[in-house]
Amino acid sequence: MNTKRSQELFAKACRHIPGGVNSPVRACKSVGCDPVFIERAAGSKVYDADGNEYVDFVCSWGPMILGHNHPAVVAAIRETLESGTSFGAPTSKEIELAELVTSALPAVEKVRFVSSGTEATMSAVRLARGFTGRSKVIKFDGCYHGHADSFLIKAGSGVVTLGIPGSPGVPEDIVKNTISIPYNDPATLEKTLRDDKLDIACVIVEPVAGNMGVVAPAPGFLATLRQLTAELGIVLIFDEVITGFRLSLGGAQEYYGVQPDLTCLGKVIGGGLPVGAYGGKKEIMDHIAPDGPVYQAGTLSGNPLAMAAGAATLRELAQPGFYEQLETKAAGFAGELAALADKYLPGQTTLNRVGSMMTTFFTPGPVTDHASATRSDTDRYAAHYRNMRSQGIWLAPAQFEAAFISAAQSEADLALALEKTEWSFKQLAAA
Ligand code: PMP
Repeated sequence: MNTKRSQELFAKACRHIPGGVNSPVRACKSVGCDPVFIERAAGSKVYDADGNEYVDFVCSWGPMILGHNHPAVVAAIRETLESGTSFGAPTSKEIELAELVTSALPAVEKVRFVSSGTEATMSAVRLARGFTGRSKVIKFDGCYHGHADSFLIKAGSGVVTLGIPGSPGVPEDIVKNTISIPYNDPATLEKTLRDDKLDIACVIVEPVAGNMGVVAPAPGFLATLRQLTAELGIVLIFDEVITGFRLSLGGAQEYYGVQPDLTCLGKVIGGGLPVGAYGGKKEIMDHIAPDGPVYQAGTLSGNPLAMAAGAATLRELAQPGFYEQLETKAAGFAGELAALADKYLPGQTTLNRVGSMMTTFFTPGPVTDHASATRSDTDRYAAHYRNMRSQGIWLAPAQFEAAFISAAQSEADLALALEKTEWSFKQLAAA
């Protein structure tokens, strides 16, 4: 595969942009190659600067659940564009998206839009602290909640990929207020919450972890979390930046039947434009300025283009049968993927899947938390990534991420991905 133009672009980018990228994992460091630069996308495919075509399983890290350039989303953006791109004043488009979100998520009575997932989680934690008058935040090892200071402690995604425990630049005074405990460990959870109960403002969790690779909550884990936080007056925050509108119209909270106090959203609700949101019970949300004293603001918050793209996306997702069809497709694909792994790499991989998000871990498993996820053979994942990219299959350039199924992927796309996976697994087995 010729990637000459990408190589030239990367060399040029490195002269002007740290690491040549605007988000670290994109640099492909952990998979031992240079990035290719994407020029355009359509439906289930992305195309690089040299014109190579790839079947896309990254889906812009989650947002593109409908595939790229969905006609309804493009039409909504085009129409909105004609009327201007940013006013810094309220618009009816914000109400439209807010209504779609609050009607899909009963636990979200009011919602505030921001411009990224990081802003959503950061603001939700500030609100939980303002509401409770307490300081401490409980998170789970391997979960990623964006790059705000409070979360860069045993975090997932690029933080675990790059093997860094936290980040220089985050003061000790901030670190001491975040306690990170193992995912899916109710005993440690209960002890931690009871020991420190009067200091804990909130627990924040990915209800299905996507950032240590996909890890499902163990049966009863979310219910225990709900019961304990309710008993102790601790705000429960579901970070549904990935799972919101991905697992079902009502997100992981509907999928598992557990309602948090606050919910963070992003990715899908922006239809591929920069959006985040946080919302929840009125009694908590009413503490946000201007109704209350907890401050949060944004020049581009509620941006009309982003609101229009998000609303058009959510309307498509609300079509009857959308999630059922996605589930059937994902289940079929995952079943065949697991069969290939069993055939060529028996006992050497674990496939975790919840709905349309999945990860093949290069470890026997089971993978239930950060400790078991990081037993994966990341060199093997890197070789698999390089194999697949060379054959036109676009996977995340890191083991500790999810692969996403989109509505745009056809039977032929998935068959091609399976054929190339078989080829790659054979190579790995022979290596
Ligand atoms: N929370 C979760 C669960 C995420 O997966 C991410 C991003 N991958 C974020 C928060 C941060 O979102 P953003 O990158 O838009 O700041």
